[in-house]
Amino acid sequence: MSAGRVVVVGAGLSGLAAARALVAGGAEVVVVEARDRVGGRVEGGRTADGVPVELGGQWIGPTQNRMYELVGELGLHTFPTWNHGSHVVHLGGRASRMGSARGAVPRLGPFALADLAQGLARFDRAAGRVHLEEPWRTPGAGDLDGQTFETWIRRHLRTPLGRAYFRIATEAVFSAESTDLSALHALFYARSGTDLETLLSVDRGAQQDRITGGSVRIAEAMAAELGDRVRLSRPVRRIDHGAAVRVHIDGDGAPEVLDADRVVVTLPPTLAGRLVYAPALPSWRDQLTQRLPAGSVIKLCCIYDEPFWRADGLTGQAASDVGPVKVTFDNSPPDGTPGVLMGFMEADDGREWARRGPGERRAAAIECFARYFGPRARRPIEYLERDWMAEEYSRGCYGAHFTPGVWTSYGPALREPVGPIHWAGAECAPVWNGYMEGAVRSGEQAAADVLALL
Ligand SMILES: Cc1cc2nc3c(=O)[nH]c(=O)nc-3n(C[C@H](O)[C@H](O)[C@H](O)COP(=O)(O)OP(=O)(O)OC[C@H]3O[C@@H](n4cnc5c(N)ncnc54)[C@H](O)[C@@H]3O)c2cc1C
Repeated sequence: MSAGRVVVVGAGLSGLAAARALVAGGAEVVVVEARDRVGGRVEGGRTADGVPVELGGQWIGPTQNRMYELVGELGLHTFPTWNHGSHVVHLGGRASRMGSARGAVPRLGPFALADLAQGLARFDRAAGRVHLEEPWRTPGAGDLDGQTFETWIRRHLRTPLGRAYFRIATEAVFSAESTDLSALHALFYARSGTDLETLLSVDRGAQQDRITGGSVRIAEAMAAELGDRVRLSRPVRRIDHGAAVRVHIDGDGAPEVLDADRVVVTLPPTLAGRLVYAPALPSWRDQLTQRLPAGSVIKLCCIYDEPFWRADGLTGQAASDVGPVKVTFDNSPPDGTPGVLMGFMEADDGREWARRGPGERRAAAIECFARYFGPRARRPIEYLERDWMAEEYSRGCYGAHFTPGVWTSYGPALREPVGPIHWAGAECAPVWNGYMEGAVRSGEQAAADVLALL
């Protein structure tokens, strides 16, 4: 006999991990997914020659223990991100190279360097004080949450280059401007993923490893285990809730209704807030999701016969204060064939370039790659991109950020179930919030909560 019936909304990593844990706990589970594929913000593409290319989330790194375990459980493998040689840095109109070891900082003048060092130390000290489970209980939370991260940067950094470093880091980590998010959220997020240096690093950092064949294989392997419990192209539109739940699906196919004891909603907050709930959700939950916007990012790749930058002693990583592609990585497969340069158009750059066509974006991206890695970058054999803002079932990425005042005014509503409705997803995780690790942990936590109540 089953422990009870549970509908999981969304077949991203969180929903699939939740479903797997629920099945293991004896529940009868259906996973309903709006897209015609699993993975959500993790997506596999292919070059014309069939080589896997990652269009969404991809890296894992130390302390993301659940991801490494899961990769092992599913019979998958990791390989290290290419990180040999020097990074290219374009800051304040000056081009330089920087070592690729963890903790390396760009070559700056003595004032900017001292400013940056003290700014990073202050940030780390403040992040170390954040209460991860309940950020609104952090000492000084009201003050920190009452300012944007940009205000914090101006208050604590004195030099233009020190400030520029923090702004580029903000775009790279949040796909948002420092004016978009609360300072408390910036500190929380860094602490949630260990510290800022870990979030920005390859070696011993969040970008250390990749999944052989692409991260989407994690989602596909979990979905394969779940079999016909996973139902694709089935967008949920409405959830009736009381003693039990009734989930209404209305896609291209025939409308359908699923009855269950509980539902786990794993959608990013902005999409969770767009479903119809009957009765309406409590105001604190609805107002929370009104205030958690998704980041703005276009991820793009140029494919080359070979990773030519490696022979020039370059890692393929660039950081620049001039866009539209300000951050790049070597995203070649393990054998280095073909060579793949990947870049992001983030935050305001993403917003501006979303309005242009793929042809214009391709030309702009190639110009940026040529500026960083030389004229050979002008001759890609292929260009691939994903505008995550335009995805109906994501509406932006990498994840949601908390705007000023939201943690302190609405924080408890983030994970608090509403009757039989449970919330999960990368945004709900206290540890590795916003990352694949957080998504999986949150899904498994929601499953444990549901099983305890069934
Ligand atoms: C470009 C990019 C780069 C990233 N880089 C990294 C990285 O390197 N490392 C890392 O750890 N993380 C990275 N991330 C973040 C990571 O991908 C996400 O945190 C994680 O995949 C979120 O998983 P989730 O299950 O919480 O949400 P989602 O993946 O968003 O899953 C939600 C699911 O719900 C579905 N859905 C939406 N609406 C409905 C509906 N009405 N009915 C039914 N289903 C619905 C969606 O289609 C989706 O499948 C990146 C993300 C992007 C986009």
